[in-house]
Amino acid sequence: MTLDSLSRDQLDAFLAEQQQAYADLQQAGLKLDITRGKPSADQLDLSEGLLTTPVEDHVSDGVDVRNYGGGTGLAELRAIFAELLGVPVDQLVAGNNASLSMMHDSIVFAMLHGTPGGSPWKDGPVKFLCPSPGYDRHFAICEHLGIEMIPVAMLEDGPDMAAVREHVADPAVKGIWIVPTYANPTGAVVSEQVAAELASLDTAAGDFRIFWDNAYAVHDLTDQHVKSADIVGLCSAAGHPDRPLMFASTSKITLAGSGVSFLAGSPDNVAWYLSHTAVRTIGPDKVNQLRHARFLGSPQGVLDLMARHREILAPKFEAVLRILSERLGPHDVATWTTPKGGYFVSLDVVDGTASRVVRLAKEAGISLTPAGASFPYGKDPRDRNIRIAPSFPPMAELTQAMEGLATCVLLAAAEKAVS
Ligand code: PLP
Repeated sequence: MTLDSLSRDQLDAFLAEQQQAYADLQQAGLKLDITRGKPSADQLDLSEGLLTTPVEDHVSDGVDVRNYGGGTGLAELRAIFAELLGVPVDQLVAGNNASLSMMHDSIVFAMLHGTPGGSPWKDGPVKFLCPSPGYDRHFAICEHLGIEMIPVAMLEDGPDMAAVREHVADPAVKGIWIVPTYANPTGAVVSEQVAAELASLDTAAGDFRIFWDNAYAVHDLTDQHVKSADIVGLCSAAGHPDRPLMFASTSKITLAGSGVSFLAGSPDNVAWYLSHTAVRTIGPDKVNQLRHARFLGSPQGVLDLMARHREILAPKFEAVLRILSERLGPHDVATWTTPKGGYFVSLDVVDGTASRVVRLAKEAGISLTPAGASFPYGKDPRDRNIRIAPSFPPMAELTQAMEGLATCVLLAAAEKAVS
């Protein structure tokens, strides 16, 4: 029965039932964590071979990988990922273990030095469009660097383009964050049409940048591979070749803490990025890059490994969706996404109750991502969104955490309904 169809007496009885269920939950003394989208130990084990892949001949393409240099990264590895990311190999840079640091550095370089041919962003106000809910660490970069964030709604096929069009008339709007495939946290995929619109947008800032973070480019949860829109090609065709900066990494392909990151863009953007990183480093960890090239072998080798990740991840997502549907569905107190890839399920509870749910869960020993984390400045205007990260805990812990979370959602909804 949906809550709004209950009489006052029935509501009181429902609330009492949820209070009892919550008291039982607290008694259980749980200690569970579904906060961050980390691969599980089983997933990391899939790349155990990376640690023993022979690289003792230590030469790739005539380069001694043990030495300094090679700022663009190993050609052998870039060739594999150029194909998967749909970019020309000479427009792809391979770096160290975190694409987030490439995003951070790109923005710092633009702030301090400007983009190719442009003036330093720091010389004026800088604003970014932040499709929300979105990735909290993107927003943290902006906040840390004093960039004003403007939330725009993240829809099923990408950002709300009507809002985007309106905001880019402001010359201070220098960028937009986009996770094109299996967005964090909604799982949305940016359609070809939205990508083409982003590519051809008339922006007041000539140095406007799309930060195209393709962190989940090959992270399908079904056996149907979803191809990302070709933002580099689309922008180039639209006469804005320098507009996109694409990022990706092997963090959720091989080892989250010891993977390889990638940046792609126009030849001018790549030269610009390398000119700044050349001051910052004498070259990336090419030993790790060679290990990756040999361990993964080919684009198909990457897809085969992703299929093994899927075998571990898909049942966890199924369990999360089953529990949400069984426990919350009948009461009409929440909606949630059904992602076909990526690392998250985005749950919207009754307006004004997300913080209460997260607090209730914490007091029952279940750690959730803080309410509001997926919004700029941590402020969810409707206080309703909760990000669920099913990957890390073993199945038994995940289902326990989800059952507990459902109890907290129902209790908070009942409290709100009687108030
Ligand atoms: N981008 C998105 C959208 C993510 O969800 C994550 C991790 O959760 C990252 C980037 C982090 O990438 P990396 O490990 O390459 O820094």
